[in-house]
Amino acid sequence: MQLKDYDTTRQMSASVVSSTRITPENTETEIRHIDLAVDSFDFSYQVGQSIGVLVPGPHAFGQKEYLRLYSIAGGSTADDFKPVISLCVKRCFYIDDYNGERYEGKASNYLCDLKKGDTVTLVGPYLRAFTLPQEKDANLLMIGLGTGIAPFRAFIKHIYGELGGWEGDVRLYHGAMTGIELAYMNDQNADLKYYYDEDTFKAFQALSPRAHFDVPVDLEGAMTQNADEVWALLQDPKTYVYVAGLKQISELLDEAMVKIVGSPETYEQQKAKMFDEGRWAELIY
Ligand SMILES: Cc1cc2nc3c(=O)[nH]c(=O)nc-3n(C[C@H](O)[C@H](O)[C@H](O)COP(=O)(O)OP(=O)(O)OC[C@H]3O[C@@H](n4cnc5c(N)ncnc54)[C@H](O)[C@@H]3O)c2cc1C
Repeated sequence: MQLKDYDTTRQMSASVVSSTRITPENTETEIRHIDLAVDSFDFSYQVGQSIGVLVPGPHAFGQKEYLRLYSIAGGSTADDFKPVISLCVKRCFYIDDYNGERYEGKASNYLCDLKKGDTVTLVGPYLRAFTLPQEKDANLLMIGLGTGIAPFRAFIKHIYGELGGWEGDVRLYHGAMTGIELAYMNDQNADLKYYYDEDTFKAFQALSPRAHFDVPVDLEGAMTQNADEVWALLQDPKTYVYVAGLKQISELLDEAMVKIVGSPETYEQQKAKMFDEGRWAELIY
């Protein structure tokens, strides 16, 4: 399904409650945590869904507006009882192949430039990519790259902050080029650390060994260090696997898993089985 196929007829206005940079100021990568108060009391969403942001025009080539999707990274209620959703947005740039010039990503720059009190138009929510199992003894293996942590942040807060008493193992593998790009887990902003004391929760970081030379994130290293546990989890019928983030994650994860499982065939079989049983879900962008 392409973005142009999404139904955008039901539009809601939302105002910016806060916008906080969660990567240090002196670093190139800017990731912001943005809280938006939705101007609709009957707006409801579930953990793991995405919201659409409409970037108003005028735009080049007569494009009226641009739609982009963002995972809901958390939620709360404002003093006036309006629903508040959190987004975790990375400011994107790209270099044009032909002229080598640097362009700003449209929606991410629009969102990252918003100030407190500004209004935006939202559509959705969309997608039910991730559903939390009902059983509290289910194991959750979450693997996220970059802003792919957003749905997992919502999951972890929901599991430990709202549900409580989770008995299954919850494992988070979070990949980023450098430690400061680890949203919600870097030195400056680490709100996920509040859950490190939970007996069932463990988080592992996968970084690039040489970030400045564009060497990929070492997901394999982080996961193979815990190979026995990952393999045991995969074989446990109570385990659910969730994968989210930029599309490089699929390749990195496949490489890591083949090492852990021992053969590509065994891994593909296990993954297909879990897909069929609704225990493997991916949100790749
Ligand atoms: C389900 C889902 C959930 C998502 N969740 C999040 C999230 O939680 N946080 C988050 O930050 N992002 C998330 N994204 C990604 C987000 O939707 C946007 O794709 C991202 O912010 C970039 O959008 P943009 O409008 O800023 O950039 P765009 O203007 O769309 O550009 C995006 C990229 O396209 C490429 N590109 C576009 N035009 C050209 C060109 N002319 N030449 C070369 N390359 C080009 C570049 O690589 C560029 O970086 C999610 C995506 C999906 C599908």
